[in-house]
Amino acid sequence: MTNPMNFEQLTAQAAALDIRNKAFINGAYVDAASGKTFDCISPRDGSVLTKVAECDVEDVNRAVASARAVFEKGSWSEAAPAKRKAIMLHFADLLEKNAAELALLESLDMGKPITLAARDDIPLSYKCIRWYAEAIDKIYDEISPSGTNEIGMITREPLGVVAAVVPWNFPLMMAVWKLGPALAMGNSIILKPAEQSPLTALRVAEIAVEAGIPEGVLNVVPGFGPTAGKALGLHEDVDCVTFTGSGEVGKLFLQYSGQSNMKRVWLECGGKSPNIVLADCPDMDAAAAAAAGGIFYNQGEVCTAGSRLIVEESIKDEFIEKVVAAGAKMQPGDPLDPKSQMGAIVDESQMNRVLGYIEKGSSEGGVLRTGGKRVRTESGGYYVEPTVFDGIKNDMTIAKEEIFGPVLSVISVKDWKEAVQTANDTPYGLAAAVWTRDINKAHMTAKKLRSGLVWVNCWDGGSITMPFGGYKQSGTGRDRSLHALDKYCEIKSTWIALGDA
Ligand code: NAD
Repeated sequence: MTNPMNFEQLTAQAAALDIRNKAFINGAYVDAASGKTFDCISPRDGSVLTKVAECDVEDVNRAVASARAVFEKGSWSEAAPAKRKAIMLHFADLLEKNAAELALLESLDMGKPITLAARDDIPLSYKCIRWYAEAIDKIYDEISPSGTNEIGMITREPLGVVAAVVPWNFPLMMAVWKLGPALAMGNSIILKPAEQSPLTALRVAEIAVEAGIPEGVLNVVPGFGPTAGKALGLHEDVDCVTFTGSGEVGKLFLQYSGQSNMKRVWLECGGKSPNIVLADCPDMDAAAAAAAGGIFYNQGEVCTAGSRLIVEESIKDEFIEKVVAAGAKMQPGDPLDPKSQMGAIVDESQMNRVLGYIEKGSSEGGVLRTGGKRVRTESGGYYVEPTVFDGIKNDMTIAKEEIFGPVLSVISVKDWKEAVQTANDTPYGLAAAVWTRDINKAHMTAKKLRSGLVWVNCWDGGSITMPFGGYKQSGTGRDRSLHALDKYCEIKSTWIALGDA
């Protein structure tokens, strides 16, 4: 499929898609054991795209059994690093070859603009797989500094069966952040996509087999959290759950682990990320554009969304005007229209949740500076305007809770000290930024922020080479970078007594 980036052609291609809608277990598409399906609805217009297999305990059991069997067989887990690398590189190439189709699926399924899916989600996904493939034969194990008569070897081994449970905001990208390192280390995987966005995961599973990843190494079980997700969390033969999603469900996975086999649990959860703009900000226009992008990109459905804009009092009014102007250019449009900068909210219930927070913001005394309404209702889809609230205090509900929508809270502070204090006054610690031309203040702020990601004079900087994850209730462990590999292996200490020569 080519990607001409033309609205008429894209809608025609969307109508002609051959959408995969069954579970993928042991290298083949299968119906759920119960025969049940659920509607996969496009937030673009509320239409049913397809009916997807609704997996439950029995399907999860089959997927885990197939993952375990191939792990024991060793065709992936014990394959030479050079072989795993070659197959994963081929996998990345095939994802790239199918990029236009994957972008279309992502846009239709979760409502993000096709332009952004094609520019960001899909390229970052195949590049992620490629990066971990390249790492496979460059990672060395260790020998301890022991004496002449012994050798201490520190070696990594794959964990076994890894369950990856992912959210709907970046469906493929969140999945490959886990698949990349877990596959590189030789594990078998069961991927459970979010019920709102299963389509790219289902397509990618067959691409993996086409690339040469042995059958059973990557299984996909679409279904609901409290059934399929819970079954993975409680499974006695799953060695690790790697999760991205809400803190509420992250905590459930910790409980599931405690109730079952003490499986490793890695969590990437939510945030309420502060974007601090100090009076000596080096470029107010750039900072305002970044602040708007930081909250309106992907309809605000971003774990690192800069949802709390903390601005020094003296520049606050001027800065808000610039943010409102930048936001005005990001009005929601049809996700398949290449001109759209913002798309639809993932589903009706999330849209209502966002609108509920907007109401709460007003009722608690926030001053609405722009937006606040549902729009494009006639389309049948779920669209919310870019929304900016002034006059927010850090203890108001919309400043405390993750909204996961295009709603910005502006909090005014008198100085740097109050800015840092306010930024850290949250149970989360995922991302934060500071805008200043003072290098000392920049470093001091970066050190003081209790946050896994800190940006100076930018928003959302970074790459696959940098760890991604949070402090406090934003999670445990890190995705991306070589650090992620450690989440998917056991470390073995082997001590060899050589005796006397
Ligand atoms: P969610 O927690 O509702 O769902 C995430 C996954 O968990 C889905 O696959 C879902 O089916 C499953 N799930 C839901 N209930 C479950 C249960 N009772 N038992 C087992 N599994 C269950 O999150 P969401 O609404 O899909 O995504 C939004 C959240 O994801 C936000 O909080 C956002 O901040 C977070 N997120 C974090 C990062 C990060 O890297 N830190 C990245 C993207 C999204």
